[in-house]
Amino acid sequence: MMAVIEEVDQPIETQVIYENEANAMEKCNEGKGKDESILGKVFDTPDDAYTFYNDYAFLHGFGIRIDTTFKHKTTKEPYRKIYVCDKEGFKRLDDNASSGIEKKRRREVRIGCKAELRISKNKDGKWFVDSFNDTHNHELSMTPTKVMEHRSHAKFHRLTECKSLMVDLGQAGLKPCQVRKAINAMKTSTVADVTSKQCVDVLSEQRKQYKGKEFYGLIKHFQDKALVDNDQYFTVDLCNDGSPKNIFWANGRSRDAYTKFSDVVVFDVTYMTNKFKMPFAPFVGVNHHGQSILFGGALLENEKEETFEWLFENFLKCMFGKYPKAIITDQDKAMGNAIKKVFPNTQHRFCAWHIKKHENEHIKTYVSSYSDFKESYTKWVNSDTIEEFETRWEVMCDKYRLQNNCWISDMYNQRIHWAKAFLKDVFLAGMTTSGRSESINSFFDGFVNSKTMLNEFVMQYDKAVESRRAAEEDEDFKTMNSRPILSSLHPIEEKAGECYTRKIFDMFKKEWTEATSNLTHETIIKGTEEIKYRVGQLKVEKTYWRTVTFRFSNEVSVTCSCSKYETCGILCKHCLYVMKKRHVETLPSHYILHRWTLNARYTVGNSRIGLEEINNENEVSAYTLWCVRSNFAKLIEQARDSPLEIQKLNNLLISLLDDQANRKKPIANESQDSCARILQVDMVHQLSVRDPLGPINTKGRPRVASRIKSSLEAPKKRTCSYCQRLGHYATSCSKRKEDESMQEKEG
Ligand SMILES: [Zn+2]
Ligand SMILES: [Zn+2]
Ligand SMILES: [Zn+2]
Repeated sequence: MMAVIEEVDQPIETQVIYENEANAMEKCNEGKGKDESILGKVFDTPDDAYTFYNDYAFLHGFGIRIDTTFKHKTTKEPYRKIYVCDKEGFKRLDDNASSGIEKKRRREVRIGCKAELRISKNKDGKWFVDSFNDTHNHELSMTPTKVMEHRSHAKFHRLTECKSLMVDLGQAGLKPCQVRKAINAMKTSTVADVTSKQCVDVLSEQRKQYKGKEFYGLIKHFQDKALVDNDQYFTVDLCNDGSPKNIFWANGRSRDAYTKFSDVVVFDVTYMTNKFKMPFAPFVGVNHHGQSILFGGALLENEKEETFEWLFENFLKCMFGKYPKAIITDQDKAMGNAIKKVFPNTQHRFCAWHIKKHENEHIKTYVSSYSDFKESYTKWVNSDTIEEFETRWEVMCDKYRLQNNCWISDMYNQRIHWAKAFLKDVFLAGMTTSGRSESINSFFDGFVNSKTMLNEFVMQYDKAVESRRAAEEDEDFKTMNSRPILSSLHPIEEKAGECYTRKIFDMFKKEWTEATSNLTHETIIKGTEEIKYRVGQLKVEKTYWRTVTFRFSNEVSVTCSCSKYETCGILCKHCLYVMKKRHVETLPSHYILHRWTLNARYTVGNSRIGLEEINNENEVSAYTLWCVRSNFAKLIEQARDSPLEIQKLNNLLISLLDDQANRKKPIANESQDSCARILQVDMVHQLSVRDPLGPINTKGRPRVASRIKSSLEAPKKRTCSYCQRLGHYATSCSKRKEDESMQEKEG
């Protein structure tokens, strides 16, 4: 057995009720007999005992602190605690010596008082008072304000005051010790510091409110958000018993981002982000600065094909039926099948990092049996062309007698998903790995772990989206408010500097600098239609040089065997070298990818609506509506700083509304509001949700069910643009009709 001296205090959650004071004083007057009523008193927890003793102390004019906690040597379970008068004992000397400034804040109050209350744990797990000394060696404070100066009471104030702050900081993902630091830094020095233990207790108390109701909390979170984010998408798949199977969500801004950057999606599944161990599956994209952005997230029941199917279908629904052009994932059969089914036209690339991870382990035996295997293998993998790849494969099969069912032949069968030669025309925004989402924890700054509750998790997700957004805005600002530093006076570089965002220009500049300083060439074939070069560095072996084809046509046309342009969207040094050599005047606009320019963010690709998206002239797609609405919102956003501009805009809108009103003279068709918020839950009106039972795989009867109303589909908020009142649109505005008929009569 050993005694553990705790330097921390217990939480104090009970409020002092002054009315009781008189009452209590009466009790005190009962004299010594009262001691016996305290001796033997039973409490459920030590906290309860502390609260009781502290209340008692408050009424009698002293303060308390925890002195000693006895714990079992083996189990580390506390079995006895002693609370003492805060004037008990003497402060240990070494405390003062080592403390420095921090601890000097507390004045010495200990004068060796012997008053104490001791509790011990019973066999039934309850705590009882087994020793009580109520004799003090000092005057007791007689007025409430004086008593409040005792540390244990002063915190009554502190705690209620800062509790909500603690909760806020806790929800922001700070650890208790960080919460403590933040709070202590903010408070005035006259009040005692809060302790980590207090933070832990306040936070865990707050969490308890959600215990068994996490899923409820999660839905409530999305419900609350729907009030401020009209375009949020949220859908839940429930089991028959009402427990959640799968959840998918995307906020309005992320959906907007997807309309611009749907060319590449990285999809990955990670664990250990929440208490229920529900796999978390984020959809990640790349913005115009090359930064990763979150398109949406899902918490899944498992990693089965049908689960992924459900998810991808909902992703598609959420994203206006717009398929990703390419998707990067881990090599996974269930995932692959679901992608084939739901995104049949999407290019699917396996994450190079995951392949690398397995590679060593699988080729090990061959490497040890054949001294030249590694070299042949590497050459095969890095084949420039499909022909090369296939020939080398046949050679390898013979030479090393590769089995039909080995890992390598399995990889061969799936070659279109990973081999460079097959992916030369697949734009991946420079990504070859899901490595960015691999570090999904970096999105969350480490603020999620295997103990994070679901409702907290989605809050952290929102914070991650916000911080990504802030990073993007920061880059937007830097691009807008700085001029590119050119390495040359060449108009090609100048044009790139004008068009690209800052970070993308930096990438371009790197290629350009090498093209202008480091490369040389050999002409291979010169024809009437095209000319082929080998381009590379002098000191590098010529087999590593690249083949650049320059075609003679009205439009500049140049391709390179490294396919940097096709996969990253930036011309490679080899192409740039040849263009400069062929005296190309400027960077042709068809080599400037819209998605790498600042315009990608600030204009919705107007030109692309209508061409790509509207196939049927009689039908407007949800995507088109989205784009128009997004333009509309931006217009308001940009005009809002000028009353005149807003007035102009409004006049214009009213006249446009007139046109529409005329067009639809008989009746306004209400049901055509297809672009209204898409926010759905696949379930009945009154739904019953409950938490999954612990880690997701264990199935059984749910313990708690909380009923909430399916008011996820909040009533539409209509605002009349004419009279500004709620409840109707200008098209059916009675005031407007009145005014118009007045005008007609007058006219
Ligand atoms: Zn005392
Ligand atoms: Zn190249
Ligand atoms: Zn109206």
